[in-house]
Amino acid sequence: MRLITSIAEMQGFARQTHSTGKSLGLVPTMGALHEGHLSLVRQAQRQCDVVVVSIFVNPTQFGPVEDISRYPRNLEKDLEALRSFKVEAVFAPTATEMYPEGFETFVTPGETAAPLEGTSRPSHFRGVATVVLKLLNIVKPDVAYFGQKDFQQALIIRRLVEDLNLETRLVISPIVREADGLAMSSRNAYLSTEDRQAATVLIRSLRRVEELAHAGETEVTTLLEEMRRVFAAEPRAQLDYAAIVDPVKLQPVARVTGGCVALVAARVGPARLIDNLILGPPGTSPEMLLQLALTARPIASAQARIPGLETDVLRLKIENCRDCAAISTIRLPPREFLSKYVKRDYPDLNVVRAAIIGRDAPLNAENFLYHSPDRPNRFVSSLYELLGVKDFAEFKARFALMDALRCHTTSPRAPEKALAYCAKHLREELRLFPNLEMIVVLGEEAYEQFQRLLLGRDAKEIRPFDDLLSARGWAQENTRSAALGERMFRVFYCYHPTYSYKRSPSLAAMLA
Ligand code: AMP
Repeated sequence: MRLITSIAEMQGFARQTHSTGKSLGLVPTMGALHEGHLSLVRQAQRQCDVVVVSIFVNPTQFGPVEDISRYPRNLEKDLEALRSFKVEAVFAPTATEMYPEGFETFVTPGETAAPLEGTSRPSHFRGVATVVLKLLNIVKPDVAYFGQKDFQQALIIRRLVEDLNLETRLVISPIVREADGLAMSSRNAYLSTEDRQAATVLIRSLRRVEELAHAGETEVTTLLEEMRRVFAAEPRAQLDYAAIVDPVKLQPVARVTGGCVALVAARVGPARLIDNLILGPPGTSPEMLLQLALTARPIASAQARIPGLETDVLRLKIENCRDCAAISTIRLPPREFLSKYVKRDYPDLNVVRAAIIGRDAPLNAENFLYHSPDRPNRFVSSLYELLGVKDFAEFKARFALMDALRCHTTSPRAPEKALAYCAKHLREELRLFPNLEMIVVLGEEAYEQFQRLLLGRDAKEIRPFDDLLSARGWAQENTRSAALGERMFRVFYCYHPTYSYKRSPSLAAMLA
């Protein structure tokens, strides 16, 4: 492992690495390394040939009243930890190497840097953006690794990379926590035993929000009140801010939706601590929640392979589909239906005569029909009514539910290739059932996808949905297509039983 302190030497090392065709990953840190940092190093080692960790306590991101001299430093111990990881190089410049006499150029981030940390630490992100740009210019990594722990920072760096046309790809990883939930941080070293215990108030307040949101509370004022109540019961902590914001602009929202982020900053004894939690369906893994937030609205071109970001889980989910660029929410992984529920619910694939195509209950995976078949919800009961069946046992004896657009929201930016990928899966699912004769298409979105991607019609040939259903509230078409294996199908189109304001009458008689 090389310890590099000069910029020129670091640039030489980077040039050398690139000249041999190896990929280079950079993990920027301020040292006092803990498992949070090391998780980024591990990620970098999995994805890159050569890994550089930078250790630099950056003076320009500390405010005038923030005591940079107190920031924990332990280079020897950090080097020891990194040696055991066998990283190729550590870049640990001095402050004068990075900011020599006469230095005067800074990067000023925009709106994303204004709220939250930006309000509490006014010049902080200017310092962060400046040093990150310098590091990216010096090391020229193919990939740079950052933590969700500093969520706002990650968004600002994403903008920096995007706005200033840097070629580095960013990978953001979930927060690594202590056993009791406290987010790992170099600043935890400041805490006395009592303060250390009190510091769990940050994650306790966030988990309380999550618990209430999972129970159905979406009013942000109520959720924030509850966060403050958790803090009020912890006299050793002073809340700086508690906020629930959208994951793109970090603006306050009135109601929680999947991907919104709850953030908190507080002083506990001598330390100022921050933490955050992304809200989403119960049971969603931290990686998926992060993906949900980071891809809420892709800022790169929808044609980009992955919009400047990647998490391990996303990579795994889409390893068959590297072009699936605009995953905005992943609700049911594409193969879950095939691999899990078919085996459980359809021991005899021959009995199913009709496939239902349409989006399932949104957001909350617990509500998916196959996920919890015995828990009635609005979608399921309306669907049963539409089909004329009384329960799941009767449903699965005749029908199979398939999701037309499994991994995307209705986002107009979902790229064609991604849709084509989902359509391919849908065709595979349809082919599982050899005796299918009927297809029921729920709602307008599924109608358009079905027409376009399964019947191969172009937009001009597709009748407006409302026209098609007309006063009757449903329509029938007998069709055959190459995509469906040239079998003849009776296809019924109707309003989505829960998404639409209009209702279709029961199709029971037609499907009998
Ligand atoms: P710092 O040394 O605090 O500047 O952090 C360096 C990088 O490690 C930043 O990208 C942080 O977001 C990330 N990081 C810090 N703490 C954690 C943690 N507990 N889990 C994951 N990443 C972290």
